[in-house]
Amino acid sequence: MTLVKYKYNDTSKLSEHFKVNEFKCKCGKDHDIIIDNELVPLLEKVRSKLNSKACNIYSGYRCPSHNKKVSKNNATNGYSHSGYAVDCYFLDQNRKRIPSRNVCLALEDLGHKCGIGYRCGGSANSTGNTHIDVKSRKWYGDESISMNESCCISFYDYFGIEKIITGIIAEWQTAMNNSYNCKLVIDNSFGPDSQNQATKYQLYLKNPQFHNDYVLFIQKQLNKLGYTLKEDGYFGSNTSNAVKTYQKSKNLKVDGYVGLNTITAILKEVVEN
Ligand SMILES: [Zn+2]
Repeated sequence: MTLVKYKYNDTSKLSEHFKVNEFKCKCGKDHDIIIDNELVPLLEKVRSKLNSKACNIYSGYRCPSHNKKVSKNNATNGYSHSGYAVDCYFLDQNRKRIPSRNVCLALEDLGHKCGIGYRCGGSANSTGNTHIDVKSRKWYGDESISMNESCCISFYDYFGIEKIITGIIAEWQTAMNNSYNCKLVIDNSFGPDSQNQATKYQLYLKNPQFHNDYVLFIQKQLNKLGYTLKEDGYFGSNTSNAVKTYQKSKNLKVDGYVGLNTITAILKEVVEN
């Protein structure tokens, strides 16, 4: 995370769909604009996931005095608007406002674990704005009800919606997001982002053992392929040996590491079965 300063009248592009001046402070003074470098890539991801035609930033950067003025009694007070957050809404392809609820769920699907505020800001109508924050803190909240406290750890639970994950790769992506906070889009596709994470986060026998959802996922898949591992999420010697046996059977390098080649082979075989 890096805060970057821009001039007040800067209209240059930050990304394909966002310009610097969309983030400027609403106080009316012509001071600099500060934007965290992770904020715009996240907004692009949400925009794309929602198949949105446009994102309207209702509140972007706030200078300290403006923040003090507008964030009184607001859950988003303090630092989050000092370049780390926006209050915004998205339009669909017919330029209708996408409900904040869908935006919150999209962020959750993206594995976004930082602040998300449902129906925040201004005069929240039935669709509302959404507060999107990249400052690392776990906070999912409903600002139309409670302005100060965290209200849920999952918007799916909060809205009473069952999360539908279809496909083995979606399950793997969810396991990776849970294990490493790697923010993969749950799209059930083993694309470049997924492959990068599979390379970055490898499983192997070590002390203390890996213990996470990724290990559990591997154990479940190997069991589907005929192994009889205890599904406990610990990468111990039994799991390591099963991986080696599996690698040998697929003519892969037998090293007990679950890296890109091994996970690719497992996913492929489970999909085909
Ligand atoms: Zn200002």
